[in-house]
Amino acid sequence: MVIQENVPLAPLTTLQVGGAARYFTELKREDDVREAAQFAKTRSLPLFVLGGGSNMVVADAGWPGLVLRIALSGIATPNANEASGNAVLFSVGAGVNWDDFVAQAVVQNCAGVECLSGIPGSVGGTPVQNVGAYGQEVADTIESVRALDLQEDRIVVLPKPACGFRYRASIFNSAERGRYIILRVNYRLKRGGAPSLKYADLQKHFAESPRAGKTAPSLAETRAAVREIRRSKGMLIVPGDDDCRSAGSFFKNPVLSETQFKDLAARAATRQLDIPSYPALEAQRKVSAAWLVEHSGFAKGYAAGAAGISNKHALALINRGSANASDIVGLKDEIQHGVQETWGILLEPEPVFVGF
Ligand SMILES: Cc1cc2nc3c(=O)[nH]c(=O)nc-3n(C[C@H](O)[C@H](O)[C@H](O)COP(=O)(O)OP(=O)(O)OC[C@H]3O[C@@H](n4cnc5c(N)ncnc54)[C@H](O)[C@@H]3O)c2cc1C
Repeated sequence: MVIQENVPLAPLTTLQVGGAARYFTELKREDDVREAAQFAKTRSLPLFVLGGGSNMVVADAGWPGLVLRIALSGIATPNANEASGNAVLFSVGAGVNWDDFVAQAVVQNCAGVECLSGIPGSVGGTPVQNVGAYGQEVADTIESVRALDLQEDRIVVLPKPACGFRYRASIFNSAERGRYIILRVNYRLKRGGAPSLKYADLQKHFAESPRAGKTAPSLAETRAAVREIRRSKGMLIVPGDDDCRSAGSFFKNPVLSETQFKDLAARAATRQLDIPSYPALEAQRKVSAAWLVEHSGFAKGYAAGAAGISNKHALALINRGSANASDIVGLKDEIQHGVQETWGILLEPEPVFVGF
């Protein structure tokens, strides 16, 4: 285990803002993760676990303790030779790039994660906020999570029900935040399964494609379609595209109570506006945060100094090139304030704030 000092964190994140880590180490073995955790504990250093850095805003002052970057590799299919029907268990190292794993699952004709193609970050990051997109979320396929329990100082395997998955949430980012370092994630996929085509954007894509009306799309075609749709929204990391210098969606879609929804509808009526309704949102009584942002005076392409809103997606706050974390936080505050004043709803940020 090599401990480095004063390592800049901005280049290790997709938003590319923030200061340095006082101590930093990159770990490829489970034993090293334990050793690094011990290093922090004995020196009373605050510990932060970094994956792909795609869901965070690092403070300009950086991180005063140890940043532990997880680089555990390996994609294994331990039950490949067993008579387990069509179910295939993938045991994946937390440091594996998420989209590399999705690509491999699709090549092996295994369904369950194809709609999550193109999401940046690491495998270990996916259970944390129960990553989801285009009608799938990792909670649908995660069987268990192998982790170092810092409280008990032992390695544990948490079965899915113990992970407490909800919309953009799990025990890892709520009740047990900071307790576990995720080492491997086990996903149960379905060999030969049909792709999930629940989402309107995907259905529209295939309805408008030259292959419309022919055979049902394959997993590979679904993966390609999802990546294409994401690219058009700046939600795929494409070198040279300034709109993807972001942390993805910056705000969660708010889940409203009956009373809140009535209040929102009344406010919309006074402005002669209809609240957009999508089956996927309605099922969970969610309202589109992007719509709220755009109808509070913040259009795509809105600029606030070096920070701004993506030209392709109203929910993505971007670093326009030379932004600091304070510029991003300033814009976040401005949007939250504007939406609350206009709609009476406080938007909750999705990324993790590190060192604030
Ligand atoms: C362009 C773009 C598009 C995106 N699209 C989506 C989307 O469609 N859906 C979606 O849900 N998200 C999306 N995101 C957000 C992000 O990609 C995901 O949340 C991703 O899973 C984060 O993984 P990461 O490895 O980058 O985590 P990081 O950003 O490194 O960390 C995020 C949090 O997870 C914790 N963490 C990371 N790894 C571990 C580990 N091994 N053990 C314990 N804790 C850990 C960190 O401590 C931190 O609290 C998008 C982001 C970008 C930039």
